[in-house]
Amino acid sequence: MIDPFGRKVSYLRVSVTDRCDLRCVYCMAEDMTFLPKAEVLTLEELERLCGAFIGLGVEKIRLTGGEPLVRKNVISLVRSLGARLGDGGLRELTLTTNGTQLVKLAPELHAAGVRRINVSLDTLNPEKFAAITRWGKLEPTLDGIFAAKAAGLAIKINAVALKGVNEDEYDAMLAWCGEHGFDLCLIETMPMGDIGGDRTDQYLPLSLVRTRLKQRWTLEDTDYSTGGPARYATVRETGQRIGFITPMTHNFCESCNRVRLTCTGTLYMCLGQDDAADLRRPLRDPSVDEAGLRAAIEEAITRKPKGHDFVIDRRRKAPAVARHMSVTGG
Ligand code: SAM
Ligand code: SF4
Repeated sequence: MIDPFGRKVSYLRVSVTDRCDLRCVYCMAEDMTFLPKAEVLTLEELERLCGAFIGLGVEKIRLTGGEPLVRKNVISLVRSLGARLGDGGLRELTLTTNGTQLVKLAPELHAAGVRRINVSLDTLNPEKFAAITRWGKLEPTLDGIFAAKAAGLAIKINAVALKGVNEDEYDAMLAWCGEHGFDLCLIETMPMGDIGGDRTDQYLPLSLVRTRLKQRWTLEDTDYSTGGPARYATVRETGQRIGFITPMTHNFCESCNRVRLTCTGTLYMCLGQDDAADLRRPLRDPSVDEAGLRAAIEEAITRKPKGHDFVIDRRRKAPAVARHMSVTGG
């Protein structure tokens, strides 16, 4: 699938649920209304849709959410997608998780063919963790991370850079990741959805963070890529990598290879734009066959926009898009 700007679309992110057991301040409002169950695709429907994307050239699938591992029976989807790895056309199956369910599920993820996961962890401080996630406790996430490591999964820690919140911790987190063999990826906060607060208060440009980190660490630029938007450097002192996802200070849209499917079957061609395609309708329409489903996907790809226009400043109070990150998945 090639979009109008010549970019090959080979990466699908699938939000398997909009629900979550946490309420991170930059991601959700405290009081969220979730989608009615009838609108949410079954795991079988999600698998069929993913199959159509794989048939069209998608090689990498990332399951996300909401919290993908709180969806009931999600492992059955992971297993069926895992069965498509290799000769089935899929090169990589991965997921982004808050880690709370990993003690229970990490061995099954590995058995299904998952080899790398991203775990979101913004702080190593228990009080800050509770404040950022509103409801969460640090321990289950840390236990989950170590269970995943023990199960043989490679781990990248994702941390959203939050001004005045975890800003003083990146040195410690980089050292901790180095000690345990994890990569670390810092993310600029993006203006998505009403979170019941002012985002200007949270926004911390990573250009500044990088300059500060360089005072203590030797960061060697690399062209390593996981197929996502992060730019990586190797930290000479630890041998691990640090990634920077900078949607605000550096727009990475020119190399965008991904589209995002929500749990209701809506396909967003860009994280930061509202245009979307409803794939649930053709999926549930008995008169539409596999070729019809593929045609609906191909039509959507012709509408992939050039890029997002995220802005966070004091004058522009409204989010760039109304939906929360938990709808489209990070
Ligand atoms: N619940 C899982 C988790 O937290 O990893 C998966 C879904 S979560 C929406 C995916 C990623 O998006 C997380 O790393 C989270 O920190 C990030 N995220 C959420 N809202 C964000 C925002 N407004 N700006 C930047 N990153 C955000
Ligand atoms: Fe849940 Fe992930 Fe959003 Fe936090 S970032 S509220 S864990 S979906």
